[in-house]
Amino acid sequence: MDKFENYSTKFVQAVGNKEGEISPSIINSAAFAYSNAENAENIFSGTIQKPLYSRMGNPTTSKLETIICEMDKGIGAVATSSGMGAITLACISLLSSGDEIISIGGLFGGTYTLFSETLNRFGIQTNFFDVDELENIKKSITEKTKIIFLESVGNPNMKLPDIKAIATIANEAKVALIVDNTITPLSISPLELGADIVVYSTTKIIAGNSSALGGCAVFRTIKDGEDKFKSKRYPFLSKFIKNAKKMALIQNAKKRALRDFGMSANANASYQTLLGLETLPLRLSRIVNSLEYIVQKLEGNGLNVNHPSLVSHPHYKRYKNDFLNGCGTLFTIDMGSKDAAYKFINNTKLATISANIGDSRTLALHMASTIYRDFEIEKREFLGITDGLIRISIGLENPQDIVKDFLNAAKK
Ligand code: PLP
Repeated sequence: MDKFENYSTKFVQAVGNKEGEISPSIINSAAFAYSNAENAENIFSGTIQKPLYSRMGNPTTSKLETIICEMDKGIGAVATSSGMGAITLACISLLSSGDEIISIGGLFGGTYTLFSETLNRFGIQTNFFDVDELENIKKSITEKTKIIFLESVGNPNMKLPDIKAIATIANEAKVALIVDNTITPLSISPLELGADIVVYSTTKIIAGNSSALGGCAVFRTIKDGEDKFKSKRYPFLSKFIKNAKKMALIQNAKKRALRDFGMSANANASYQTLLGLETLPLRLSRIVNSLEYIVQKLEGNGLNVNHPSLVSHPHYKRYKNDFLNGCGTLFTIDMGSKDAAYKFINNTKLATISANIGDSRTLALHMASTIYRDFEIEKREFLGITDGLIRISIGLENPQDIVKDFLNAAKK
């Protein structure tokens, strides 16, 4: 059974309660009371598993974490206030001043500036590579490299990394691999392909209707015997490995990033995200099918479309072999100039103009004038941001209606 079918059963069964109120409860409490001093001590030490304080975890959020963790076959997950929160949590849990990151492909604008500007101010340097520069990536790994980071699909350059090959490089060099799987939940399972941490912006296709900002990081288990996280590249993990064993990565992330940085999810957003998660497989499989039809039609009618399901795309073979459940909701159209792009966007009747992606409705955005507006020319070139580039995120509308509307908008 493919993952969409399998998780259509699992998600609705896991989100709804089997007794009493069916809809998950929203526990709107920032703090929790302990029955006595001993109980407080036990909750803090972890011998009793009860809510401690909502910055460190909330019951509604825990339900979301458990289900997303199962989806990715991790040992634990931490939900955060946003997707950038999840990326920051995963990264800073492994980084110290003087360290290096290798970033491959992509990259969403916020992640790019986190790496190139913000973390840089804390003494962390990032080397950026295109997805297929595997030899250069290998050569650039040093003892300071703590993270290899990639997006499962480049947003918005639509390039597809060979995740297995990159995981092999990371595992041979004993460096952590973090995959941003925001665009391809269920379609791609990064931990099964050899990654160590998966991060999501749940704001996108998981919540699915612009109702909740959120993120989630899923961690793999620490293996008995040899494990790259036991090496001297990550000396700060040894105390967590000693105490939390298999759960060391998640305990470290909770202590460092949740407790100390506080990018915690709130219960209302977690509730909305749970409601979205229930229908994720249905929505995503419909959108992936619609999208393949739409890009074919648009390209066939002369538009300059970028999507790996098209034979014209350099990663068409990788798409057919490794992305059997599609690669999410995105594609781009290059209209050739800012002026033509603006005309197209202003002429579509169906697309909502928004910086979001993965919504129930089709969204469109001109890239160079919005998310990448303050990026220098060479950074835009590296990320594939041209003057006429429009990013489209397909929604649940009838695909023929979208094709008609887009061809009409392009003609005008
Ligand atoms: N990762 C990807 C691939 C994204 O497209 C976004 C989008 O905004 C993010 C991370 C950041 O997510 P959020 O807006 O929830 O912080």
